[in-house]
Amino acid sequence: MAVITQVADRTFRVESTLGRRRIAQWLVLGSERIALIDTGVAGMIEGQIVGALRELGHDIGDVAEVLVSHADVDHYGGNAEIRRLAPRATIRSHPSDRPLIESWATIFAQRYGWYRHFGLDYDAATHAWLHDASGPDVPLDGTIAAGDRVELGGVALEIIDLPGHSAGHLGFWLERDRVLISVDAVLERGLYDIDGTLISPPPYVTASGYRTTLDRVAGLAPSRLETAHYPEIRDDAVDAFVDASRRFADRLEEVIAGQLGDDARSIAELTAVADRELGPFSEMSNELARSVAAHLEDLECRGLARSVGDQPRWLAA
Ligand SMILES: [Zn+2]
Repeated sequence: MAVITQVADRTFRVESTLGRRRIAQWLVLGSERIALIDTGVAGMIEGQIVGALRELGHDIGDVAEVLVSHADVDHYGGNAEIRRLAPRATIRSHPSDRPLIESWATIFAQRYGWYRHFGLDYDAATHAWLHDASGPDVPLDGTIAAGDRVELGGVALEIIDLPGHSAGHLGFWLERDRVLISVDAVLERGLYDIDGTLISPPPYVTASGYRTTLDRVAGLAPSRLETAHYPEIRDDAVDAFVDASRRFADRLEEVIAGQLGDDARSIAELTAVADRELGPFSEMSNELARSVAAHLEDLECRGLARSVGDQPRWLAA
């Protein structure tokens, strides 16, 4: 059963659980149009959003705008359901994430299957779950990006780019209430289960993009940060959350840089060290490799690391 919380004028958080983690989508009830931010995993529209909208006095068919924050199955897997139940709604995402959201083959090649090249992987059950959670492929209707404004009547969402966790991760800024719906753009030390135990690492595809996002979020100084997988974050806790995220990235870079010398190290070896230093992570621990690779590429750009071979191994530059 979803818990509905009003987080800004006309804006509601719909929170439920997914396995051992919390997960949220958002409904913005404009006087003219209704927006849904994220569609969850397959089944969540019928399981959570239909009932939440009914409780708020609306019908699922009233949804006009579906905005997908980023390409991960727990944020777009309900696209086929919303297409069927709200056929007039337009579904949009950032252009960089659109091809991954539209095609399981593409997101598998670029995201979920990426780890295999480095001898790391999800277990078979997680692979099966990811595929089921993504739902059928659904073509989107268009794209949105920084500078766009979604007017809904009495409330507007300003779109900002929050790259890092994915190349095209979006943020939704409600300026009047100073509420930022940041979804998975800022990931602290990783993801926790509902009892508060740290279980999985914070994956990001570019270290510089992720740091830009942390600065951007801090610069907005939101009174409330709305994430998909963490409990309420308000006022001074926003800064503390962003600072903890920055410390994680700095520490991960330090651990990796400290491992680089004259002997080439693989991504799997560096990830194992990082897991010991910053984890250990019990679920989806392979995803730490994505952040390790992001830092290696960043160190290489800064002339501090270099790679050798087709199956790259890394050395100090
Ligand atoms: Zn997520």
